[in-house]
Amino acid sequence: MTPSKSLELLAPLSGVLLALDQVPDPVFSSRVIGDGLCIDPTSQTLCAPLAGVISNIQDSGHALSVTDDNGVQVLLHIGLDTVNLAGQGFTRLVEEGQRVVAGQPLVEFDADYVALNARSLLTLMLVVSGEPFVLLVPDQGVVEEGQPLLRVSPGQASSEADEEEGDALFSKPLTLPNANGLHARPAAVLAQAAKGFSSSIYLHKQTQSANAKSLVAIMALQTSRGDSLQVSAAGTDAEAAIQALVALLLDGCGETVAAVEVAKPAAPVSSATLMRGVCASPGSAFGQVVQVAEPALNIPETGAGETFERAALARGLRAAAEALQALQAKAAGSAQAEIFRAHQELLEDPTLLEQAHGLLAQGKSAAFAWNSATLATAKLFEGLGKALLAERAADLADVGQRVLKLILGVPERSLDLPECAILVAEQLTPSQTAGLDTSKVLGFVTVAGGATSHVAILARALGLPSICGVPAHVLALANGKRVLLDADKGELHLEPDLAEIEQLQAVRQQQKLRLQREIAQASLAAITRDGHHVEVTANVASLQEVEQSLTLGGEGVGLLRSEFLYLDRNRAPSPEEQAGTYSAIARALGTERNLVVRTLDVGGDKPLAYVPMESETNPFLGLRGIRLCLERPELLREQFRAILASAGLARLHIMLPMVSQLCELHLSRRMLEEEALALGLTELPKLGIMIEVPSAALMADVFAPHVDFFSIGTNDLTQYTLAMDRDHPRLASQADSFHPAVLRLIASTVKAAHAHGKWVGVCGALASEPLAVPVLIGLGVDELSVSVPLIPSIKATVRELELVDCQLIARQVLGLEEAGQVREALRLYHAATVETSPVVEH
Ligand code: PEP
Ligand code: MG
Repeated sequence: MTPSKSLELLAPLSGVLLALDQVPDPVFSSRVIGDGLCIDPTSQTLCAPLAGVISNIQDSGHALSVTDDNGVQVLLHIGLDTVNLAGQGFTRLVEEGQRVVAGQPLVEFDADYVALNARSLLTLMLVVSGEPFVLLVPDQGVVEEGQPLLRVSPGQASSEADEEEGDALFSKPLTLPNANGLHARPAAVLAQAAKGFSSSIYLHKQTQSANAKSLVAIMALQTSRGDSLQVSAAGTDAEAAIQALVALLLDGCGETVAAVEVAKPAAPVSSATLMRGVCASPGSAFGQVVQVAEPALNIPETGAGETFERAALARGLRAAAEALQALQAKAAGSAQAEIFRAHQELLEDPTLLEQAHGLLAQGKSAAFAWNSATLATAKLFEGLGKALLAERAADLADVGQRVLKLILGVPERSLDLPECAILVAEQLTPSQTAGLDTSKVLGFVTVAGGATSHVAILARALGLPSICGVPAHVLALANGKRVLLDADKGELHLEPDLAEIEQLQAVRQQQKLRLQREIAQASLAAITRDGHHVEVTANVASLQEVEQSLTLGGEGVGLLRSEFLYLDRNRAPSPEEQAGTYSAIARALGTERNLVVRTLDVGGDKPLAYVPMESETNPFLGLRGIRLCLERPELLREQFRAILASAGLARLHIMLPMVSQLCELHLSRRMLEEEALALGLTELPKLGIMIEVPSAALMADVFAPHVDFFSIGTNDLTQYTLAMDRDHPRLASQADSFHPAVLRLIASTVKAAHAHGKWVGVCGALASEPLAVPVLIGLGVDELSVSVPLIPSIKATVRELELVDCQLIARQVLGLEEAGQVREALRLYHAATVETSPVVEH
């Protein structure tokens, strides 16, 4: 095309000019939609910056575009998040298709109303057709409506010619989940993604169609929530394009979409067709209901003589121990094996056995005595109201049933399962879960249980989607009923339609492909596109997990939760055994990798059977972590000695949990130095602290000179900053580590550490969230210590980012007001950067 003569764009408003980089909304500041400028308005009438045709005006009047005869297209967007005002405060003065002259009034708006009810009044003028331009005024300062601002060179837009070949392929209809339809932000994300494919792509709504690579065309479709849309594509990558764009649309194109919003208006999802629980293990499955009800056991109370019943109990216990040994041997992963080892420990528990023998001495039967002892102890655990002990109760009930059946001679029921079974139960026991035939079981749903239970851990290890905490009437569903389990959203759909099933399967397929690729590339370093290396290490609790982390590309251990090594023991491990454990782990890592051993973090929600503690009203605010260890210095000294035995086998680091005062660090260091001296060590391992209490974060500059490193425990830092118990079921969605308050504490910690030349890791669960990776990198975090299965994904995420972008997004989110806004901004950023690089593979 021959370039036409240049075109001047006039100021559409009077106000203060700002560079786009200063707009606190990444979808605009990242220029995903187009380049241009921003005005903080002092006038209230938006006027045409150029002559042309109104190519699109939103019903709500907050955004419109004008296209001139050379194809230059300019988008005007009044305010940020003004789509939520649904037209309130805006008066449209023109219609779509109308020809306008430069300077003509287009929309009047009530600046006071918009300023009070939307996020911002900042108004954008963007050249969305992509022509280059020059600024005719300084890039900051006051401008007058009608004043020439930009000189555009028409005809020079970068052309991305579409391939047009073969017949178009069409997706299945999908239901648009976005609360406000495809307005500017999601439309930009979709168009950006579509541009990544060479095929020509269209979005269809009833009889209307829009070029999916054109932001304006998508907006012109005037979609709303619940609209039925289809994607079509023609070209060599048509199939991949359809798959990716359908998945993106269903995911909200970067916007948060609540499950209920996916409902079609004609058939709203009601409680009759949907049951909600909590995600225990992610994924989704379509299959048939299989109810799992345990048969009632007939337990005689009176025994046939104490000697006889004692022998019966001993036989039952022995047989159970053998069965558990066999289960341990064939367990798929360390998590499973650990659970069965814990069950074996319970069989030897002196308190339980004492209770049972006491009842045998009173003439009760072995079955009755054992059952009463296990039930009483399980009840005691449950009644203490602590998540971890409640899980112990489930384990105890499981072991109890196993022994009971062996005493009574009731064979273990093997479920006769149909294909594609979705199990429904009041509660599955850990052994039932571990024994599930995954060729037939696709997932399960339980009334009881929690997201941190052993059953949930096992389900994740088996890759079985599952939800727990579902209302009890799920137990009344008929066997064979077809249901859709969407564990990611914690939902069980009772009347799924074909489109829903296929959409979910398409999303899953894409996730699976992505994961396969990430695992295949797990050994590559986590280096951003612009060359910044971030260390990705593992959070572990056993030697097996260390070994697994190395096969998944882990670069070391950023957090060894030492209290988990012996969580299920009734007796303290001997000093030799402790030293052996640490040395084996250090040896597995080798001298080139970091091993960060956290000293015992007992208390709070983590009682340790062999460290008896008095009950406390507020255990999370009580004798926890380093406080407890300093109260029992022998415990800490013994652990230091055991850890020091592994010095030289790996790059050893010792880390103190729950530090809130400088004196705790000083006291601990002195003890460590004394123990090292006694062992004849000439070199001390690195000593660092966890930053998980606000006082430590706020005084990081005071701590920094005295430590070798910090590792931020965002799980506790969030609970203590927001004053929300991390186990509180009703506060679970609010106790969010994406809260700007938590992020600001991370920012100041990093700043203080770097000022003293110390490195900072994050080992709380926030580091394992791909969405959080850009902000953590942008804040300067040096190491991400993540849960083992997520190592490949986190490394892949790092490789898709640019440090400079991360710094920008980090600065932006620190200024936001709440966690939801941070998540939303990061989702948009993620959609516009990470996900627009092609992810679909054949
Ligand atoms: C944390 O608090 O973020 C942390 C890593 O420690 P834990 O979860 O073991 O308390
Ligand atoms: Mg912690």
